[in-house]
Formats: sequence, C-alpha cells, structure tokens
Amino acid sequence: MNGHFATVGGDAQTEEHYEHGIQVIDEEKEFNANLNTYLQLTKIAQSGFNYHLISVFGSQSTGKSTLLNHLFGTQFGVMSENERRQTTKGIWMSKNKRGGTEGSTSHGMADNILVMDVEGTDGRERGEDQDFERKSALFALATSEVLIVNIWEHQVGLYQGANMGLLKTVFEVNLQLFLKDKQSNPRSLLFFVIRDHIGTTPLANLRQTLIADLTNIWTGLSKPTGLEKSRIEDYFDFAFAALPHKILQPDRFITEVGKLSTRFRAGNRVSNRRDSNVDQQLEGGVFLPEYHRRIPADGFSIYAEGVWDQIVNNKDLDLPTQQELLAQFRCDEISREVLETFDITISPLEEKQAEGVRIGKPIVLRGLGASGKAARVKGVKAFESEASRYHKGVYSRKRVELEGKIDTRLKALYQGQLSAAHKSGVASFSDAVSNAVKAGQKKGATYEFADIVEREKATALEQFELEAKSLAIEGVPWTNFKQQYNLYEKDLDEVSGRLRKEEMRRLATRVERWVRSRLGESVGLEFNKLGSGRGGSGAPETGEKPSTEKDLWDRIWNLFTTTVKEAETRFVDRAKSFNASEDEIEVGLWRLRRKSWGVLRAKVDEEVMEGNILLKLRENFEDKFRYDEAGVPRIWRPTDDIEGMYTKAKESTLTLIPLLSRFRLSATYAPPDLPEWVGNAPDGVDAKDDEDMTPIGGVDEEDGKSLEEEMTVLSEAKRQDLVVRFKKTADGVYVEAKRSAIGGVAQ
Ligand code: GDP
Ligand code: MG
Repeated sequence: MNGHFATVGGDAQTEEHYEHGIQVIDEEKEFNANLNTYLQLTKIAQSGFNYHLISVFGSQSTGKSTLLNHLFGTQFGVMSENERRQTTKGIWMSKNKRGGTEGSTSHGMADNILVMDVEGTDGRERGEDQDFERKSALFALATSEVLIVNIWEHQVGLYQGANMGLLKTVFEVNLQLFLKDKQSNPRSLLFFVIRDHIGTTPLANLRQTLIADLTNIWTGLSKPTGLEKSRIEDYFDFAFAALPHKILQPDRFITEVGKLSTRFRAGNRVSNRRDSNVDQQLEGGVFLPEYHRRIPADGFSIYAEGVWDQIVNNKDLDLPTQQELLAQFRCDEISREVLETFDITISPLEEKQAEGVRIGKPIVLRGLGASGKAARVKGVKAFESEASRYHKGVYSRKRVELEGKIDTRLKALYQGQLSAAHKSGVASFSDAVSNAVKAGQKKGATYEFADIVEREKATALEQFELEAKSLAIEGVPWTNFKQQYNLYEKDLDEVSGRLRKEEMRRLATRVERWVRSRLGESVGLEFNKLGSGRGGSGAPETGEKPSTEKDLWDRIWNLFTTTVKEAETRFVDRAKSFNASEDEIEVGLWRLRRKSWGVLRAKVDEEVMEGNILLKLRENFEDKFRYDEAGVPRIWRPTDDIEGMYTKAKESTLTLIPLLSRFRLSATYAPPDLPEWVGNAPDGVDAKDDEDMTPIGGVDEEDGKSLEEEMTVLSEAKRQDLVVRFKKTADGVYVEAKRSAIGGVAQ
C-alpha cells in the first residue's frame, strides 16, 4: 500500500545542494526522493499547515523563471539573453528567499512560501510535450493554492494561442481532479501576470478580455455528467497584475515586482459573491484559507509523490484516497516515533520487573503509576499534535491503535506491579502479625490477636489500594484494579486464617500447660493423701464429705474434668476473641481433652512410679501402725499386741494396691466413660493424622487397646512386685517396733 511512498534516499542531504531549489520532477518524469530532505532543511516540514504553494504556468521563454526569481528571491535557471533554448526542465521547487529567512515580516509576505516553476510548453512542438503539460498541470492543481499564469500583453486576446490551450488543459484537468472530491471542492486562484505591459491598454480592459476568453473556453469544454452546468467561478478565483518591460524599463520593473510580491500574504474574501471580478473582493493578500490543500507540511513530500505516481501511471487521480493513504502512512510513521520514545521510558521498567520475577523477588517499582501515566499522556499528546492534521477518520483509528499498543505494554507492566505488590503485601502482612504476636508474648501482656489482624490487614489493604490508585488513569477503564484488590483481600484473609490456626495452636499449648500444672498440683495432692492412713483427713473444716481412700479415683476424675472444663472455657473465650470458627473451636476442644487426658495419665504414672508409690504405701502403713486413732504416736510396750496391729495395718494398706491398679469410679466400679467424655472426632479430623496425638485405649478403636487397658494403672506383674516390696518394708517397720518395745523395757 505504501509502495509508492518511497523513502528518502540519495546523498543530497545538505543545503548547498539546493541553491537552485529542488527538481521535484525531472525530465524523465521521475519524482525526487529527496524532496522531504529539502523541506526539512528549509524548515518547512515543521510548519504544519502554515505554508503555501504557488505554481507558475505559461509558454516557454516568457520570463516565468525570471519573474519568480524577482518575486521570491529564488535562483531558478533562466535563459541567457543570447542562447534561446528551454532551460526549465520538469518541475522545480524553491522556498521563498526574499528578505532572508524572516523576509515574510519585512516584506509583508506570508511564511513558508514554496514556489514551483513548471516547465513551459512550446506552442510549436506538440505530442510528447502535451502529455507532460497535462501531467504537470494536474500535479500543480492537486497541490498549489495559487497558479500564476504568465502571459505577454500582446498574447492577450489571441484566443487560439498556446496560452489558451494551456488554460483549456488546466480547466479540463481541474474538472477531472475534483470530480471525486465534491466534499472539499477546493478552489484555486488563477493569478494572471501580464508581462511587457506598455500601458496604452488599461489593466481593466485586459482583464475583461481575458475573462471573456476564459468563459469561452469553459463553455466549450465537454464537462463530465453532473457538472454540465458548472461555472468557471465555482472552481477558480481570478486576480490580475501587469508588469512593465524588464529590459526596456528595468527600474520600473523592479519597483512593480516589489509591489507585486507583497500580495503574497494571507487574505480574506470580502464578499461571498463568487464571480470573475474577484480582484476587488480580496482583502489583503492572495492566500485565502480555502485555497489551501490541507496537506500537513511533514506529509507533503509523501503526498506529492503519491499524487505524481498516480498521474504518471495514468491512473484516475483520486485525491481523497491519496489523502487517506497519506494519513495512514504518516500516522503509522508518527505512531512508530511515539512508540520509540515511549519504549525508552518503559523498557528499563519492564526489564527491572522481569529481573525481579526471574530471581523470585518481585519488585514493586517506585512511582510506576506516575511515569507510566506521563509516558502515556506524552505519547498520545505527541501523536495528537502531529497526526491530527491528517485525515480525521484515519487519525482517530490510528490513535485508538496507538493507545491500544501503549496500553498493552502498560497493562502487562501494571499487572506485574500489582502482582508484586500483592506478594510483598501478603508477606509483610504475615510478618507484621507474627511480630506483633511475638511482641505481645514477650511483654507477657495479653494481646488481642483479632485486633492485630484487623489493624495489619487495614494497613496492607491501604498500601495496596494506594498502589492500585496510583496506577489508575482517568478515562481508561482497564486501570480500575478492583478485581485485583478483591483477590488481594481474599489472600490476606486466607493468610489470616492460617495465622489464626497457628494462634489456636499456641493457645492450645498455653491451655495445656495450664492443665498440666493444675493437675500436677492437685493430683499430686490426692496421692499425697495416701500417705496418711487415716482416711478421714479430707477437709473436715469445710464440711466436705470426708474423703476416703476408696474414692481416690472419683476425686481425681472429678478434679480432672473440672480442670479441663475450666480450661475449655478459657480456650473458647480466647478463641472467640480472635474470630475462630465454630469448627475450629470444636477441633481445639477435642484436642484439648485428648491431650489433657494424656497429661493426667502421665501424672498418674509418675505418682505410681516404683519409688514414689512404695514410699506412699509405707507412709500409709506407718500411719496406721505407729499412730493411734487420735493420731498420737504409739510407745511400744512389750505387752502391746504389736503383731496384731501390724497385721491389721498391713492388710489395710495392702487393699490400696488393687485400688490403685485401676482407674475406677466407686459408684459403678467401672472406668469413667472416657470415649463419651472425649467425644467423637469432629468432621474431617482424625487422631491418626495428628502427629502429636497419642492414641487412647477405648477411644481410638483402631489402636487395639481397650478402655480397660487404658485404665490399668499398675500391671499385674507390677502389682505383685509392689506387694512383695511393700511387705518387706512393712516387715522392717514391724521389726523396729518390736525392738523398740523390748528396748523400752530394758531401759
Ligand atoms: P521561462 O522559460 O518562461 O522561464 O523564461 P526565462 O525566465 O528563462 O526568460 C526567457 C527570456 O526572456 C530571457 O532571455 C529573459 O531575459 C527574457 N525576459 C525575462 N523577463 C522579461 C521581460 O519582462 N520582458 C521581456 N521582453 N523579456 C524578458
Ligand atoms: Mg524557466
């Protein structure tokens, strides 16, 4: 599609090459690929719409180039006085140089006037020439605002002359050209410059003659269908000027040319009446806005090349299509430039982010929102300022395309950013909660886990929101990151759940520790009571039913269940304070009961350890044997029934051994209903899967251990062993008593 918009090549890149302007089209009808370079060098390319294009027409050797050189300070080649041959070949172009670069102000001329010197036609030679004449006329009309028609005074009224042939061509070509472009219907100014004006015939008369001739030509044209009724004034305005003979009146010639040059500035139409008498209707200069072809200067060379390509290949010249093609080409070019600049800002950020991901440490880029937004705005603005001069439809489409490209890059970057913010946010949230808990534990003060979580979650959310908001761009819907925010919050809640579970574990450990210490003390106390043989030593002062050795296990079970109940209450209270769920609490309680049982069982085992229990039995026995009912120590006398008392005390103590061997409640003479007390495992929980959960006989059936076994405190073998050892100890005490009785008598 852009094939005929060749890019600038060649080596003519400096100003010295363009002393005589640039040959836009050469004798071979080739378009000069350096045109854009020339426009760049002369700073026209940067002028947007603030430039003007003038072409000159006329027969060969009528002083056209001479005129332009005087009017615009150009240096187009002119025929020397003594060699009469064609000098201007093809089409040349030059910038107005009159009055230097800022000549426009000093001479009242418009800025950035480009002048095209079109090869003249020689009325005597036809054929090949006529083809070029037609083509160059088309080209000039498609691009120029003002067409200077250079004509000698004596040619005026010569209807059959070469000039009139040329004008006929211009009119025909014009109809062909703008047939397809009815929308814009651009007008052009035909500016007749009458040379070698002697002065005998006033300019007004010459004008009338010319207008009559032009109208005749127009009437004689075969017009395309639909335009049969069109008038010449629908397409052209006319202006006239006369110049004295350059050779005969050189001074006057210079003065008049100087005056003429000042007419090349912006003007207005004074009346809306469009007729041939336009001279009087122009105010100011000849450049009316409506003449402008509206091709942005930076796209002129491409447009001109495209137009020429169509002309040379005898294709129907369709200017609107050309303008669209130009717009596409230029918008793409501008878009590419914009993206290059955008890339310079964005690439390093993308690389940094990718690097973070690669090493597994996602980076939250500082100020990404600001720089991303700035890069986007800058890019779109730059595109707008350059490209909006082109075909509106194409421009809007290309702008959407560009925004799409920019947004694709930004989107990936922003999503990476939020993903990094998400990851680091979740990690710092988790750390912050853990640290706050640790700090709370260290101080020993009670800390509110739920408060910590709530506070840290709020902080984490706030930070994320801040980041997300900094990435938001007004009017760009994809920069609303609500979804990511919700996902983030969900993840925080998930982490909170995990942390809460950990906190539950910690709480469970604390409560278990409490149970252990409580039971250690109270159960120990119960066992210690065994050391006293007089069973009624409970706590008579409180009015409590005096404890007996027989209800040892009732009391222990009672202690145990009361303690655990209290522990459960503590556990539930705390767990609720940090929003643990019912299920979590249920599991926690279940674990607590199981573990507490383990604690009790261990404590009991400790109490019945060989040395400990033997000592208790001895104390129990001694208490019964060596103290009377009133608790007064006996002084043995030989007359005492030491043996009888020994046997009685021994038998009494020995009854403790079977009692101690099994955990039984006195009412039922059966073990407590431990399975019922522990309760079923909550749904989805299994003691087997819990590594710090010791199996409990009768509760965990798969374990193969019965409740009876679980409640066995002393095995049969241990029991017998204990009996033997106790007897020996008791025997020792008896012997001692015996001795002391005899000894007492001996004294
Ligand atoms: P072009 O072929 O139309 O560009 O004509 P040139 O500018 O090359 O000039 C052709 C010849 O006309 C040269 O010899 C000029 O000296 C001569 N010439 C230029 N201006 C005038 C003029 O105003 N009157 C007359 N009579 N001759 C002129
Ligand atoms: Mg010339």
